[in-house]
Amino acid sequence: MKLQAARAATLAIVIGLGANSVFGQQAAVKRNFDAEIRTALQSAKDASEFEFLGTLARICLLPQSGGENTDDKPFGYVANPASAPARNTWYAEPAKVFDNLYFVGGKVHSSWALTTKEGIILIDTLYPYNSEELIIGGMQKLGLDPKNIKYVLISHAHGDHIGGAEMMQSRYGARIVMGGPDWDLVEKYPNRYKTMAPKRDIVATDGMKITLGESTVTIWLTPGHTPGTLSYTFTVLDRGKPVNVAYSGGTAFNFVNNTPDPGIKNFQTYIDSQRHMAEKAASTGATVLLSNHSEFDNAYNKNRMLAGRGNGPHPYEIGTDWIQRYFKVMQSCARAAQIGLEKKVAEAGAR
Ligand SMILES: [Zn+2]
Repeated sequence: MKLQAARAATLAIVIGLGANSVFGQQAAVKRNFDAEIRTALQSAKDASEFEFLGTLARICLLPQSGGENTDDKPFGYVANPASAPARNTWYAEPAKVFDNLYFVGGKVHSSWALTTKEGIILIDTLYPYNSEELIIGGMQKLGLDPKNIKYVLISHAHGDHIGGAEMMQSRYGARIVMGGPDWDLVEKYPNRYKTMAPKRDIVATDGMKITLGESTVTIWLTPGHTPGTLSYTFTVLDRGKPVNVAYSGGTAFNFVNNTPDPGIKNFQTYIDSQRHMAEKAASTGATVLLSNHSEFDNAYNKNRMLAGRGNGPHPYEIGTDWIQRYFKVMQSCARAAQIGLEKKVAEAGAR
């Protein structure tokens, strides 16, 4: 919001100078792109403090992938399962996180089982090589029956989240929910999604409610990370107390962003989506931020803190202000990168 105001102010200065210019000259106010980028990065850092360092590092600091992936060959771990990463790099213990929400993910990637009286809503399905052990095995370890999986929500169609979706559909007859553009993507690249992509089923829409028993997950379209990325709001119970969750479904800038066109537009889509989610998180009073990567929500470490909780606060419950800060980090990092592309346009124009 601050950035928007700053841009509006800059614009006002430009217009003001132009109108007041005594000799009617064009008064060009040169943008200081590097200063603008520094301001955006600082705003991300201020919002993050120590809470979201993983997200800050991933999208404000680390180099971003830039081009479009048009490959249609199976991933190495599908073509040659022996090449899949070693178990000790991804295995994590499952955990009961809330009364009705269970973590069945790994060290790096998360999968969540929301239990209801009518069955289970599963959110994200990891890789093809570890979904069986982590999700199915994890549920069994926690006393849950995978046959009760009724819905599977896929936040976006990347191999680290869609890997077990086909299995859930064919083995348990679960209904699969995914964003329209991501359904298109898996159909466009059938070999890339070999063993992973389910048959087209439910196409998510903004505000769609998936209700099972006493629980409802509301879906929000948050295109950016992929064109079909989904995020969610839902309620869980902590020792009987309702607690609201905002689930952020896509984070890194792996869309086309190495050229101003379409990079500037893609960053705007991403920024608008984070604003959309921030609004939904605020209106539902979300105090818990969940993601599908532990680097963003710190799930792996928080799960290990649960055992020592005693009568203290729930390690995942960080409050409404921190939830807003999370989406602020995402917006500000994206804005910094977007300004970088605007700088490229200005430099090209000046030549
Ligand atoms: Zn992804």
